[in-house]
Amino acid sequence: MNVLVLNCGSSSLKYQLIDMNTKSVLAKGICEKIGIEGASLTHKPTGKDNLVVTEPMPDHKAAVKLVMNALLDAKYGVINNISEIQAVGHRVLHGGKYYSGSIIINDDVKRVIRECFDLGPLHNPANLIGIEACEALMGNIPQVAVFDTAFHQTMPVKAYLYALPYEYYEKYAIRKYGFHGTSHWYVSGRAIDFGKLDPEKSKVIVAHLGNGASISAVVGGKCVDTSMGLTPLEGLIMGTRSGDVDPAVVQYIANKEQKSVDEVLNILNKKSGVLGVSGVSSDFRDLEAAANAGNERAQIAFDGFIYRVAKYIGSYVAAMNGVDAIAFTAGLGENNGAARQAICDYLTYLGIELDTEKNKIRGEEVVISTASSKVKVMVIPTNEELAIAMETVKLVK
Ligand code: ADP
Repeated sequence: MNVLVLNCGSSSLKYQLIDMNTKSVLAKGICEKIGIEGASLTHKPTGKDNLVVTEPMPDHKAAVKLVMNALLDAKYGVINNISEIQAVGHRVLHGGKYYSGSIIINDDVKRVIRECFDLGPLHNPANLIGIEACEALMGNIPQVAVFDTAFHQTMPVKAYLYALPYEYYEKYAIRKYGFHGTSHWYVSGRAIDFGKLDPEKSKVIVAHLGNGASISAVVGGKCVDTSMGLTPLEGLIMGTRSGDVDPAVVQYIANKEQKSVDEVLNILNKKSGVLGVSGVSSDFRDLEAAANAGNERAQIAFDGFIYRVAKYIGSYVAAMNGVDAIAFTAGLGENNGAARQAICDYLTYLGIELDTEKNKIRGEEVVISTASSKVKVMVIPTNEELAIAMETVKLVK
């Protein structure tokens, strides 16, 4: 069974066509600058040359059409007929309080995705256009929505409710939702399997450390807390997002700089984080290089990032009254051993000991703690596309 996985962002569309019999990627690619000048498609078919198409893409429907053309292309394509795609799995940002799992898309599901436009203003509209484009281009093919928020719906009310007047929760559904759910679900599940943990009782912390970063506490495979909130701005320090700040900072900057709330929020989302502090880059590779070359602000940004992760781990150990395993994932979590070591240096009080040689292994699932460590520390490469395809197969079969 071939599953097309689509991830529509505000101006991008990432895709993978996966053969689920062998779990192999037939082709993957990205459409960038959708709706803006200079749009392009980069298509990477496995075992063939890459194809780059530079062509205007006024909307996500045009992008999906170009993806279909690339998949069917005589030279760069990987299928001969559209019917060789048996299902489509969509990453959908926000399912609000409505979905705690993936679901086959019908008119009702589309209505809910639309209802959640306010909660995911950049992504949910793009997700819906992607779904409708597939309907238009691929007929009655089954489509599945896999929500970024779904895995976190098991959080108890004490974890997700903000201490605001209750009417705002009732009227506007303002609460913590959490994001990166597909990754937290996949990685916590793999941590339980790979680490041979008790599927019913194990206490796992997943640190998804990429450009966007979030952390979750998972008991018996169910999320009990996570660091992102109503939007992905809350929690850890990220590439360009501030993570937690005193909300009064917004008013303070707005008054001092004569900016609107929207403008300040844009600064908190796009110009803050390690980029804002260092003035160097949102990419941790650049940050580390600059810090190693003696750039003090780059070092401060890196140290602040590590410190925040360690503090969150400490708070989730308290929330779960213990921890059996910590799983690192995403770009930085998978590739940066120095960052993992620096985080774990804060956690020796938990009896955590890293094996320095194992901490150097890359690109595979690995336990990086010593045999005598009281908590298992692991690296689990995330694979959101495969997780979405697995969910799709499960529902479509
Ligand atoms: P996102 O999906 O949120 O855009 P990623 O999960 O790709 O982010 O993570 C991006 C971060 O991971 C960057 O800061 C980058 O420095 C770091 N990273 C990615 N690949 C590597 C690598 N091979 N070595 C070291 N760091 C890496």
